[in-house]
Amino acid sequence: MGLQLTLTQIAEIVSAQNDVADVVVTGAVIDSRKVTPGDLFIAFKGEHVDGHTYLAKARENGAVAALVSEYQDDELPQIKVDDVRIAFGQIAKAWLAECHAKVIAITGSNGKTSLKEMVKAILSEVGTVTATQGNLNNDLGVPLTICRIDKSDDYAVIEMGTNHPGEIAYLMSIVSPDVSVINNIASAHIEGLGSEESIAKEKGSIYQGLKKNGIAVVNADMPYESIWQPLIAGRKTIRFGLQTKVDIFADYIQPEPAASHFLVHIDGINHHMTIPLPGLHNVNNALAAIAICVALNIPVDAMVRGLNTLQAVPHRLQMRKGLSGSRLIDDTYNANPGSYLRALETLSGFDEPRWLVLGDFGELGGECDAIHQSMGLQAKAAGVTSLFTVGEKSQLAAAEFGDNAIHFEDIQTLQQLLQNTLTADVTCLIKGSRFMQLDKLADALASEA
Ligand code: ATP
Ligand code: MG
Repeated sequence: MGLQLTLTQIAEIVSAQNDVADVVVTGAVIDSRKVTPGDLFIAFKGEHVDGHTYLAKARENGAVAALVSEYQDDELPQIKVDDVRIAFGQIAKAWLAECHAKVIAITGSNGKTSLKEMVKAILSEVGTVTATQGNLNNDLGVPLTICRIDKSDDYAVIEMGTNHPGEIAYLMSIVSPDVSVINNIASAHIEGLGSEESIAKEKGSIYQGLKKNGIAVVNADMPYESIWQPLIAGRKTIRFGLQTKVDIFADYIQPEPAASHFLVHIDGINHHMTIPLPGLHNVNNALAAIAICVALNIPVDAMVRGLNTLQAVPHRLQMRKGLSGSRLIDDTYNANPGSYLRALETLSGFDEPRWLVLGDFGELGGECDAIHQSMGLQAKAAGVTSLFTVGEKSQLAAAEFGDNAIHFEDIQTLQQLLQNTLTADVTCLIKGSRFMQLDKLADALASEA
C-alpha cells in the first residue's frame, strides 16, 4: 500500500501554505503516466522534462494533488514549495518515521542492485519487504522507494547511488538505516568523485548516518577501514571478505559458469550455499547479503532458501540463449573497468570460441583512451578468441587486441554479422556503457526474451 498521509499533514511537513482539501494521499509519483488514483504527483523539473507541464495528465490518472514549485493553471490541488526535490525528501523522511520496517541501506561502486536483490530474496523468506525497484537509487529514487514502504512492512532495502559529492550524505538526512553496507569501492564514475580514497570517504557517509544502535557491514577486502572507522564511531561492525577471513567469509568456492557453490563461515560454523548466478563477484555480493542478514538475526536456512531463488537481473551479466544455440552473456546494462574484469572472468570460464562484443565505456575522465587500450590487452589475456568493437573509443581496444579484432562503425552492421555467424559452440559476452544501447543488440541476438 505504501504512503498514507493527509494533504494537511504533507503541507505541514513541507511548511507550505495549507489551502488544499484534506484527503489521504496513498502514493507519490514523479511520472504522470504512472500516476494511479490517490497519488501525490511530484512535479519535478528535470534536465529535459518539466513535470509542471504534466499536471493535467496526472489529474486525469487520478492524482489528488501536485507538489509544485510554481502554481500551474490547473484545477488539480497544488502544494507549493521552494524546492520540490527537498520537499519530496522531507515527505519521505516523515513517512519513514511512521513505518516500523528495519531499514537496510546499500551503496558501493559495483553490485548494488545485485546485492539488493539478494537481500530482498532472503528477507522475503521471513517477512514482508519493500525494496528499491530497478535502479531508482538517487535523490528522487530513494524518496520514491520510501513512499512505497507499507506501515506493516518488516524490512525496507534501499539502494543508494552517488555520482556527485554529498549525495549519500543528503540521502542520510532522509534515512537513518538500521544496517548500512558499502559493497565495494572501485574506480567507477572517476569523473565525478576523484580518487578511490575520496570515493571511500564519500560513500562512508552511509555509516555516519546509521542509527545510534545501527550496524555497519564492512567489506574487509577493501583497504579503507581506517577511513570508515571514525564514521562508524564505535557502532557494532560485521565484516565480510572474499580474500580476508573475517566474521563472514567463503571457503571451497566452486564456480560453475552459471552458478557458484561455496561454504560460508558464520559464527564458527560452515554452511553450504548455492547461488544460481555467474561470477565470483556474485559470491562477494552473497557474502555481503549474508553479513547483512546476520546483522538482522535472520536464520541461516532462510539465507540458503532465499539465495537459491535468485535470478539474474536483466542485462547484468545475464546468461541467455543466443541464436543458433549459442550462449550470450548479456552485461549491457552498464560498464566500468571493475565490472569489465568480472565479466571477462565469467567468459573465460567457458570453452572456446569466446567472443566479446565491446562498446565504449563512459565516465572515465582523462584516463579514457588508456583504459580502452588496456581493455584490448585484458580481453586477450582472458582468452577472448574474437573481438568485435563498436563506438569511437573501443576502436582503441581493437587495435591493441590485434588479429581477430574487427571494428564496426555502426551497431546494425555488427548485428547482421553476428546474426549470420553465431554458432552453437560460441559464448559471446556483450558489454558497453548504457549510452551505447547494446542491450538492444543483445535482445536481437537472443533466441528467447
Ligand atoms: P549502478 O551503479 O548502475 O546502479 P550497481 O552498483 O547497482 O550499478 P549492478 O547493477 O548490480 O551494480 O551490477 C552492475 C555491474 O557490476 C554488472 O555488470 C555486474 O556484472 C558487475 N558487478 C556486480 N557485482 C560486482 C562486484 N561485487 N564487484 C565487481 N563487479 C560487480
Ligand atoms: Mg544499481
